[in-house]
Amino acid sequence: MTDIQELLLSRIRDVADHPEPGVVFKDITPLLADPAAFTALTDAFAEIATRTGATKVVGLEARGFILGAPVALRAGLGFIPVRKAGKLPGATLSQAYDLEYGSAEIEVHAEDLAAGDRVLIVDDVLATGGTAEASIQLIQRAGARVVGVAVLMELGFLHGRPRLEAALDGAPLESL
Ligand code: AMP
Repeated sequence: MTDIQELLLSRIRDVADHPEPGVVFKDITPLLADPAAFTALTDAFAEIATRTGATKVVGLEARGFILGAPVALRAGLGFIPVRKAGKLPGATLSQAYDLEYGSAEIEVHAEDLAAGDRVLIVDDVLATGGTAEASIQLIQRAGARVVGVAVLMELGFLHGRPRLEAALDGAPLESL
C-alpha cells in the first residue's frame, strides 16, 4: 500500500449497521475534515482526469459532488452534477435503474453535456455499480463519452467492477 493509500484509508470510518442492519457504511467525513487527505485525494483524481483527457467532471449525488467539484477546478474543467430525480430545475435526461428492492432514477441537465465531451465520473464508493452504470448510460445518451470512473474505494464483494467494466468499453475504472 502506498503512503497516500494508507493516509486515505486511515480517514475512512466504518459505521456498522448504517443506514440499515447488516450494512457497513464507509463514512468519508473524517477525510473531508483533514485538508492533507482531501488534497491528496483531489490531486489523485485530478491526475486521472488529466491522463484520460477528460473535458468534464461528473459528480454523483451527494458525496460525488463534494469530491468531484475540487477535482474539476484542479484539472481546469467544468463540473456537472448527476442528481436524484426531481432536483434539477432545467430540462433533463433521466435514467432509471434497479436497486436490490425497488428502483431509482437519476438525472442530468441536458444542456450540460454534448457530443465531443469526454467525461470522468467521480464518486466516493463503488458498491453494486448500479448508480455508476446508470450514469454511464445517461452520459452516453447525452452524446458524450465516458473516459473513466474514479472512486475512492470499491466494495469488491458486491462485484461492481465487472459490471462497470462491461459498460466502460475499455475506459478505466480507477479506485484509489
Ligand atoms: P451502488 O449503486 O450500489 O454502487 O452504490 C453506490 C452509491 O451508494 C454511492 O453513491 C455510494 O456513496 C453509496 N454507497 C453504497 N454502499 C455504501 C457504503 N457501504 N458506504 C457508503 N456509501 C455507500
